[in-house]
Amino acid sequence: MTKLDRPFVLGHEAAGLVLEGPHQGQKVAIDPAIPDLTCRQCRSGYQNLCPQVKFAGTVVHDGALCEFLSWPSVNLIPLPDRLSDAECALLEPLGVAVHALDLGHLRVASTAAVIGCGPVGLLLIQLLRGAGVASVVAFDPLPHRREAACRSGATAAVDPASAGEPSALRDLVGDGVDTVFEVVSAGEAIQLAVRAVRPGGRVVLVGLPGLADTDDDWFRLPASICHDKGLTFSVVRRMNQVYLRAISLVMRGQVDLAGLVTDRFPLSDVVEAFDVAVRRGGLKVVVEPAVE
Ligand SMILES: [Zn+2]
Repeated sequence: MTKLDRPFVLGHEAAGLVLEGPHQGQKVAIDPAIPDLTCRQCRSGYQNLCPQVKFAGTVVHDGALCEFLSWPSVNLIPLPDRLSDAECALLEPLGVAVHALDLGHLRVASTAAVIGCGPVGLLLIQLLRGAGVASVVAFDPLPHRREAACRSGATAAVDPASAGEPSALRDLVGDGVDTVFEVVSAGEAIQLAVRAVRPGGRVVLVGLPGLADTDDDWFRLPASICHDKGLTFSVVRRMNQVYLRAISLVMRGQVDLAGLVTDRFPLSDVVEAFDVAVRRGGLKVVVEPAVE
């Protein structure tokens, strides 16, 4: 586990206005990952797998929760002016959802489930319906997230606790859905994912279980079910080069980002913003540094 030995700035979902450089004067999305562009993974087109990546808001690299940020021009993606600042910042979690969808290898009119209806899960539901998936069953223990899941296009949204019995789960997913996206990574959520997918299906693991080198840093899978069903697993590592597709989805109205924003705070009230986020009473909390 990385030991924190200095204060650092959080924040990896951000957008900004460029003061100097090639994009001067433009509104931009900020790709928070700076890969080295020289390693085998980067040169093979998998920059999201770069072992030397510098990521905003980690102990090795300050993040974007500030008024001014110095960032490589190659990591700035120019945006249309008509996108709001909050929408621009939410292109980052949308990018993660697009990448997760890519790893799902879904076919039109197939079936899916999404476990965990935070912002990335909700964006996945929107994307799945937009991609022509026939049905999406959503799972989340929080009622306001289940309501948001239905607004996002889920065909059913239920509390995972109500799907404990095999017959109850069968009522929801029949013999199992083609692909399950697990966006929580609590042990019970992964077990639900494995139970809810059909034999021969795929489970896409989007959530992070816990910090590296801690007791939480494990995926705990029921081996016999995985074996008997012959499951395929995909693990999401951030996103690959998907920003342009994410922008296109928002510009064409196929994905609604603004509806995810439930709370906004100025940078001076950032402590309150974190309090609200930790209580999980809303969806996305946005902090807006005001710069004249
Ligand atoms: Zn690299």
